[in-house]
Amino acid sequence: DIVYLNGQFLPLAEAKVSPLDRGFLFADGVYEVIPVYSRQTFRLDEHLRRLQASLDGIRLANPLSTAQWQARVREMIGHSPFDDAQIYLQVTRGADDKRDHAFPTGVAPTVFMFASPLVTPDENLRRLGVGAVTAVDNRWLRCDLKTLALLANVLLRQQAVDHGCAETILVRDGFVTEGSASNLFLVKNGVLVTPPKSHLMLPGVTYDVVLDLAVRHGVPTEVREILADELLDADELWMTSSTKEVLAITRLDGRLVGHGEGAGKPGPLGEQMWRWYQQFKNDVMRAGRD
Ligand code: PLP
Repeated sequence: DIVYLNGQFLPLAEAKVSPLDRGFLFADGVYEVIPVYSRQTFRLDEHLRRLQASLDGIRLANPLSTAQWQARVREMIGHSPFDDAQIYLQVTRGADDKRDHAFPTGVAPTVFMFASPLVTPDENLRRLGVGAVTAVDNRWLRCDLKTLALLANVLLRQQAVDHGCAETILVRDGFVTEGSASNLFLVKNGVLVTPPKSHLMLPGVTYDVVLDLAVRHGVPTEVREILADELLDADELWMTSSTKEVLAITRLDGRLVGHGEGAGKPGPLGEQMWRWYQQFKNDVMRAGRD
């Protein structure tokens, strides 16, 4: 298992980080998860742009240039045994010699990267869809930053697992924000609806791709706030993320999503979107554009 740490590729067992690292003490850092298909990254530049936005948001200088990130990610893929992988990378504010909330001076950031297998939802899971629960979004007000401070997300996701479900849909002040680790789309009367980007949700790379594909294929879209009450009235619900791609939510808080014949089953637009997503991915890969 080869990982990247502070400029070096080395075996995981030899990768050492100080217990005084601010990532460990304060969750003072940011991260990205980049999907790799057949040893090629998908949307790498978009992920690196969001990394920059997260770093700007926590006032931490980017330790690497875009070209350096690209080269290191490519090298990481070369060290990985997995054709389809997810590259996890994180940057923390580094290890000081004392514990003080205020930014340290003269401390180098810690840069860490590793690859693990990418397991996207298989056909069986896609045919059934997954269950979700709703919960109050009790995270902070900078959910647009992809920071290491994921304890709220962890606890919220566990609520889903405790109910035998896959995801928790978050509701703030009566409006849906996103999932604990995904963005949310709703279909009602043929219209695809998703919340607008704001400080209350992560600007998903997959969210952008899905909206773009919808527009390109002439699907009516509405980017607007979604009331929690609209969820159970929806014809389809999907979660999107780099690892889940487009996945139907077919049960919500113990009730079936959708109506009549389609209740509790993945809907036609979601299946179509999944195919468009696969096709787009394949086109991008074939063209070697990503
Ligand atoms: N929202 C949250 C809170 C996430 O953690 C993630 C990613 O895991 C997403 C949305 C989806 O983002 P992306 O499509 O860039 O993977």
